[in-house]
Amino acid sequence: MSRYDYDLITIGAGSGGVRATRLAGGYGARAAIVEESRVGGTCVIRGCVPKKLLVYGAHFAEEFEDAAGFGWTAGRPAFDWPALVANKNRELDRLESVYQRILRDNHVTLIEGRGRVTDPHTVEVDGTSYTAEHILVATGGWPTMPDIPGIEHAIDSADALDLPDLPGRVVVVGGGYIAVEFAGIFRALGAQVTEIIRASNILRGFDEDVRDALAAEMEKKGVDIRRETQVHSIEKRDGHFSLRVTGDEEIDADTVLYATGRAPNTAGLGLSEVGVKMTNRGAVMVDDWNRSSVDSIYAVGDCTDRVNLTPVAIAEGRAFAETRFNDNPITMDYANVPSAVFSQPPVATVGLTEEQARQRGPMDVYISQFRPMKHTLSGRDERTMMKLIVDAATDRVLGCHMVGVDGPEIVQGLAIALKCGATKAQFDATVGIHPTAAEEFVTMREKRPEHEGGDGRS
Ligand code: NDP
Repeated sequence: MSRYDYDLITIGAGSGGVRATRLAGGYGARAAIVEESRVGGTCVIRGCVPKKLLVYGAHFAEEFEDAAGFGWTAGRPAFDWPALVANKNRELDRLESVYQRILRDNHVTLIEGRGRVTDPHTVEVDGTSYTAEHILVATGGWPTMPDIPGIEHAIDSADALDLPDLPGRVVVVGGGYIAVEFAGIFRALGAQVTEIIRASNILRGFDEDVRDALAAEMEKKGVDIRRETQVHSIEKRDGHFSLRVTGDEEIDADTVLYATGRAPNTAGLGLSEVGVKMTNRGAVMVDDWNRSSVDSIYAVGDCTDRVNLTPVAIAEGRAFAETRFNDNPITMDYANVPSAVFSQPPVATVGLTEEQARQRGPMDVYISQFRPMKHTLSGRDERTMMKLIVDAATDRVLGCHMVGVDGPEIVQGLAIALKCGATKAQFDATVGIHPTAAEEFVTMREKRPEHEGGDGRS
């Protein structure tokens, strides 16, 4: 008989926590999961899933317009924001109940409330203590906003998913994943959108051609990107907000959305107090086996601030459960993790950027920019950009980037090729599917002349 109440107590029922705990339960561990909010976490309840549903909703605006070039005439379509939000929320309720069922089916006890670690084997939830041989911290991340006068008037991405009405004028502050996604949603639905970024371009860390291509497409769609601009204050006026920005300019808005990054959600968990080492950003420091500096305490997902993506948290959760509860030691491989930004048009990427590849040694760039076939009839002025980065010495494809419709669907498949170490010659030997945009990835033959890119960008 174990001296603990459980073999595993997980704090946080998001993507990583649920995967780890339900696998552990399935392997026979006595497992519990503590959650203070809704089961599903950021991705399911206030992130990836609801955001993507709004992206689908927003995209219809262009689809109706594009249909005219294909012979369709229809009355002026009407849009009902509360209907979209209500339908989205119904789907989230369904998904939450699926998650709850998965936990039940794997004999995991759900403990509702806020968990706090009080010693290396004890978690306290609203005054009750539970003991466990292993504790897994999977508390995710939380939006952060700079401390400027009037910041209390700003909303975060979770609030943006549930606005009661569609705002007429939106200011989005930030140039990362979340900012460009919401700028795209609100613009497509007809709002006047200003995106304020402190840097000279959006999507820091992405390939420069991706950043340029997406910014150009967003601007064509009418998003007003204000570069090298800081917000100094936000003031509430009658029924709207006024932002004072760089250059002493004022910008008026009905909604001010801040998407200026996320931080690990570890405050008040009692981790430092029991000896868990934390980074200066408040993330749990873990080794390759997701183990913290305290032997019995582990962590996965955004609270460790490694690669902050849902599928990575899930893979880390699985690696933890396999290692601890299935006698199958595995670690997460962080090489070639693909990701997408559901902007309009979307971005998808896997592997190295041109700038990262250039640091490693000689490389070749293949790039293609074209008008998607659909827009030859729709008349829409939207271009697709595809780019491959190839190691000049080994011919291996090091990076693959796309800005354009269906990019995330296409690049997921190419991520398998990169994971397998595919060479450019193997890409070239692959027969395309015609007519698609994706076939461009296997038909790019001309290297970009060196003077047209990279350091010597012209
Ligand atoms: P990001 O870290 O991607 O971007 C933050 C943005 O805010 C940057 O443009 C940054 O500018 C700017 N910023 C930071 N601080 C300030 C400040 N004080 N004033 C003005 N601007 C500021 O954060 P997000 O919130 O967009 O996303 C968080 C994480 O969520 C991402 O890292 C990603 O891992 C995940 N995510 C993934 C998605 C997906 O896979 N599709 C979708 C949404 C989120 P600068 O460039 O100058 O630093």
